[in-house]
Amino acid sequence: MSSVKLKKGRDKSFNRKHPWIFSGAIDSIKDINTNGETVEIFSGDGKFLGYGSYSLHSQISVRVLSFNPEDQIDKDFIQKKIETAAQFRTQIINLETTNAYRVINAESDSLPGLVVDKYGDFLVCQFLSAGAEFWKKETIEILFNIFNPTGIFERSDVEVREKEGLQQFKGILFGKDPEELIEIIENGNKFFVDINLGHKTGFYLDQRDNRKLLETFSSEKEILNCFSYTGGFSVYAIRAGASKVVNLDSSLEALSLAETNLTLNGIASSKYENVQDDVFKYLRKLRDTNKQFDVIILDPPKFAESVSQIEKASRGYKDINLLALKLLKKNGVLFTFSCSGHIVPELFNKIIADAATDAGREVHILKYLTQSPDHAMLTSFPEGLYLKGLVCKVN
Ligand code: SAH
Repeated sequence: MSSVKLKKGRDKSFNRKHPWIFSGAIDSIKDINTNGETVEIFSGDGKFLGYGSYSLHSQISVRVLSFNPEDQIDKDFIQKKIETAAQFRTQIINLETTNAYRVINAESDSLPGLVVDKYGDFLVCQFLSAGAEFWKKETIEILFNIFNPTGIFERSDVEVREKEGLQQFKGILFGKDPEELIEIIENGNKFFVDINLGHKTGFYLDQRDNRKLLETFSSEKEILNCFSYTGGFSVYAIRAGASKVVNLDSSLEALSLAETNLTLNGIASSKYENVQDDVFKYLRKLRDTNKQFDVIILDPPKFAESVSQIEKASRGYKDINLLALKLLKKNGVLFTFSCSGHIVPELFNKIIADAATDAGREVHILKYLTQSPDHAMLTSFPEGLYLKGLVCKVN
């Protein structure tokens, strides 16, 4: 069998069960022919450690499939991993009120590079590593047998594929093509999801619990939902009694789908307003008109794509948070997020603290937020934590 041998002393990360082996830790490789094929992993002194998928192109040369040399890596092995992940979701998701959730969260479910989201009867997959691509046919068969879905759609139209020597791809893998929007239910709220053209696999499932929490702060409140996308936070807020919500997003398509989603939930147009603008600019316009809100949500896209962007991203986060803090009424509430994995929680807290100082506002942190538990991270894979949020009370 093909194999990799690590450099002497470079097995520490493996021994802590971190699933990535970088090219710099590898001493030699043997008999590797195919991108993504399964390799045996040996330590620098020749001890057989486990198995991984080898990427011919990525800096992450090996993604570990098993830390146990006694395992056999075959379709049954993949099936057990998928079943374990699927079973775990039935424990943490209330399937009576929610039918859209992440079934497989890649490395965090010990299936490196594989993301599978369930939207009602449809599954949407991303094969993000050479190893995930290698097992694609088997993976689709297994998913079909477990879920009996109406369709399996692939959204591998992401740049990371290119680092793995894979082409971007989007399209139907099995069953019915989702020609229209798919209707899902999340905590009893209905949403249309565009799995073909929407962001990521279509919907920000990772915010489910945080949207639910917003209900507590919504009754009779005037709310500004910045980066509102398809109206996730807005639907929850208005159904929980908010007097008015402003959806603010630069994308007309997103705002239009937000309107459709609000209507789908029986919400009258008098309850909300759509504003198409750049958040950085619009918050300044609001500041200049002395407009104030009870609650503001800031859920921007990823500002830091790499380590080199941390500083610039931090300035961006500080800017919008500073402006938002100034726009809150006394005892107002800020829901603020960062989905940049490179912005660690300590840094995010500091950015908010600095924004509070500069805004001249006293800010209490009421809650630390993270991604919903179907996106749970493994302690041995801290990279799996990306979404951080704070609920703040502002005096
Ligand atoms: N909170 C949403 C997800 C937000 S995704 C939810 O729960 O579903 C980020 C959104 O920010 C996208 O809809 C994108 O169109 C929008 N966006 C990105 N940059 C922006 C900017 N500078 N100003 C306004 N909207 C922006």
